[in-house]
Amino acid sequence: MVVVETIDDLKRLRLKLTEPVGFVPTMGYFHQGHLALVRQARAESPSVVVSIFVNPTQFGPEEDFDRYPRDPQRDLALLEKGGVDIVFMPSVDEMYPPQFNSWVEVGKVAERLEGASRPGHFKGVATVVARLFDIVQPDKAYFGQKDAQQLVVIKKMVADLNMNLEIVAVPTVREPDGLAMSSRNTYLNPKERKAATVLYQALSLAQKLWSQGERNTERLRQQMTALIQKQPLADIDYVSIADAETLDELDKVKSPALVSLAVRIGKTRLIDNVVVG
Ligand code: AMP
Repeated sequence: MVVVETIDDLKRLRLKLTEPVGFVPTMGYFHQGHLALVRQARAESPSVVVSIFVNPTQFGPEEDFDRYPRDPQRDLALLEKGGVDIVFMPSVDEMYPPQFNSWVEVGKVAERLEGASRPGHFKGVATVVARLFDIVQPDKAYFGQKDAQQLVVIKKMVADLNMNLEIVAVPTVREPDGLAMSSRNTYLNPKERKAATVLYQALSLAQKLWSQGERNTERLRQQMTALIQKQPLADIDYVSIADAETLDELDKVKSPALVSLAVRIGKTRLIDNVVVG
C-alpha cells in the first residue's frame, strides 16, 4: 500500500494500476461502515484507491470541521489489512489552493432535506467528489446508503456531467442495537448513545406500519415523530418520506420511497434512513 499526499503523485501512480479501479472517498476515522465499502471495492476491482480528506467546504461555519474526529495512523493500519493499493491523503491546500474558485452545484435534489438544513453542504460534497473523480479516474466509486441523499446527488452529478464511472451503493452497517455507524457517534456520551437508538426505532416503526399496509405518509410521519418525541434527549430536525430518486415529498407511499430523518441527540446531529418498497 502506498500513501500519497499530492495530486501529481496520485496521478503518476494511478497510471500503473491494473484496471478496473475501485475508489472509496472518505473523511477517515474508520468504522465498519467504511470498511464494508473498502471490502466491496476490493471484491469487485483488481485495484482499490481510498481517499481520506476532511473536506472543509462541506461543513457550515457553525459545524464541527475543527473537532471532526481524526486518527490517520489507525485508519492506515485498517486499510493496509483491507488490501488497499493507494491511499490519497491530501492537505486542504492541495485540494483548495488559494486561487481555487470553481464549484459544482447539483440543483433540486441537493436543496431539500440535508441541503435545506445545511446550506452549501452538497456544493462542497459535489465539488470535492468531482475533483477526486477527476484525479483518481476510477471505474467504480463506492458510497454508503447511510448518506442516502449524498448518493442521489452524486448519481445526478455523474449523469448530468457524463462522468465515465459507475456509482455503487453499499447498505448501511449498524451497531447491534440498530444505530447506524458514524464517525460522529463518538460525540455521544453514554446516555446520549442509548437515546440515539430512537432514530432506528422510528425507521423500523415506519417499515412495520408500511408492511402492515399503511401508505399515508402523514400518518407514518406522525407515528415516527410521536415515538421520537418520547425521547427527552432527542430534537427532530426533519422526518421525511420522499421519492427515492427525485426526493420529492410524498402524500402516499409509492415504491421505492426513502424514509429519512435528522435528529439532534444533545448537541450531536445524526441522520439515518431506510428504503421501503
Ligand atoms: P464519511 O467518512 O462519513 O464521509 O463516509 C465515507 C463513506 O462511508 C460515505 O460514502 C458514507 O456514506 C459511508 N458510510 C458512512 N457510514 C456508513 C455506514 N454506517 N454504513 C455504510 N456506509 C457508511
